[in-house]
Amino acid sequence: MDMYSDVLIIGTGVAGLYSALNISSDLSVIILSKSKASECDTYLAQGGISKALNEEDKKLFVLDTLKAGHFKNNKKSVEILANESIENISNLSNLGVKFDIKNNTFDYTREGAHSVNRIVHSSDKTGKAVFDALFFNVLNKKNIELIESTCIFDLITENNHCFGAVGIHNSEVYNFHSKVTILACGGIGGIFKNSTNQKTLTADGISIAVKNHIELKDINYIQFHPTALYEENLLNRNFLISESVRGEGAKLLNINNKRFVNELLPRDVVANAIYKEEFKSKSNYVYLDLSSMDGNFIKNRFPLIYNGCMERGIDITKEKIPVTPVQHYFMGGIKVDFNGKTSMNNLYATGEISNTGVHGANRLASNSLLEGLVFSRRASKNINSTISNILPKDIKTKFTFETALNEIHNNKRIAIETFKTALGGKKNELVTL
Ligand SMILES: Cc1cc2nc3c(=O)[nH]c(=O)nc-3n(C[C@H](O)[C@H](O)[C@H](O)COP(=O)(O)OP(=O)(O)OC[C@H]3O[C@@H](n4cnc5c(N)ncnc54)[C@H](O)[C@@H]3O)c2cc1C
Repeated sequence: MDMYSDVLIIGTGVAGLYSALNISSDLSVIILSKSKASECDTYLAQGGISKALNEEDKKLFVLDTLKAGHFKNNKKSVEILANESIENISNLSNLGVKFDIKNNTFDYTREGAHSVNRIVHSSDKTGKAVFDALFFNVLNKKNIELIESTCIFDLITENNHCFGAVGIHNSEVYNFHSKVTILACGGIGGIFKNSTNQKTLTADGISIAVKNHIELKDINYIQFHPTALYEENLLNRNFLISESVRGEGAKLLNINNKRFVNELLPRDVVANAIYKEEFKSKSNYVYLDLSSMDGNFIKNRFPLIYNGCMERGIDITKEKIPVTPVQHYFMGGIKVDFNGKTSMNNLYATGEISNTGVHGANRLASNSLLEGLVFSRRASKNINSTISNILPKDIKTKFTFETALNEIHNNKRIAIETFKTALGGKKNELVTL
């Protein structure tokens, strides 16, 4: 099967949907998801989205981001992030995202390593609020066609130019021909044994980049979130206990009920402190204690976490939560410039799969959704102003259903090998084929 569009977008998380909405209405767009559109990490986001409070706060926001990232960040990218945060959050509100409001302004909350309260949120279901609004708008745009359950496994290329992508949909091979392609295919947690990510996110963008010699950057920068719920015999992904719970006052205790770390330090510092504590006490977890918070406050402020723990037999208004660090986020990725352009012509990457250099070696909490917004919009604007110079090319690929399935299997192998090498000693964290 052959399908044609001006712009092909692979991924329906914040990066893919917001890219699509920022493409000119006179360009045709096809947007794809691997399974259901909502089965993305965006939908799972809890804590919120960082935003400079005002002009004066931009400098401090940049500094907080650089400090958390161990100054390995690209400073210009961080400045872009802070500078464009206010207008992008305002765009989200205009698109229908309902953020929590207090005293006629955003109900700003706090997370680790932020010097001030600057995170906008929609209770603890911010990701769902963002996804629902963007998805609704995408469905109402005449120039955008959304196709779910399509697994892209390679690009259509010639002489380092991208002319679309090839995937499987309904047991058939589809060639998606386009002038411009955007990889917005999210994180890598699906290849880890323990991760907060959707299991379907198996680093396909990275395997595709490796196969096509597209430049990657910082692929050893992988974030472990300090506080995932510890469960024995876990079957699916790990349930996250958002950093904003610590932001609102929850304390970390070891199994002897002693505090051992400042809970609001950067994620990597807190995760390492927990690993040390678990090692010392020969335990698989430590505790997160919410006893300083009123029960009704907990239920209203963190309904998702309250209900998620309750379903697993823990009443967090009365009991401590056993938590442990697990894979959560990928700071590295496909190297892009400030407009999302990769090292391959006509190919862009945005969101978690890309590396803009914003996060450095460790992401500051709630900067991921913001990166997805800011840099997707820049990519779309760049595409709108340059696409008229691009000539499409109708290249047919030779995949059969069987060879396509082999390619999907091969992609997983490439991803596992790539991260085994990048992780060095931590190989046991990865799944096996
Ligand atoms: C539990 C949890 C809580 C989080 N909380 C926050 C938070 O509060 N604030 C914050 O800033 N960040 C948070 N994050 C991180 C943030 O949610 C993600 O980094 C961000 O949503 C990634 O957006 P994305 O659009 O790049 O990818 P995703 O939203 O993950 O979307 C990826 C898309 O790519 C598609 N795809 C993947 N592979 C293929 C393929 N081969 N073919 C076709 N389609 C494909 C998928 O189907 C999906 O549609 C959280 C993450 C998790 C897991």
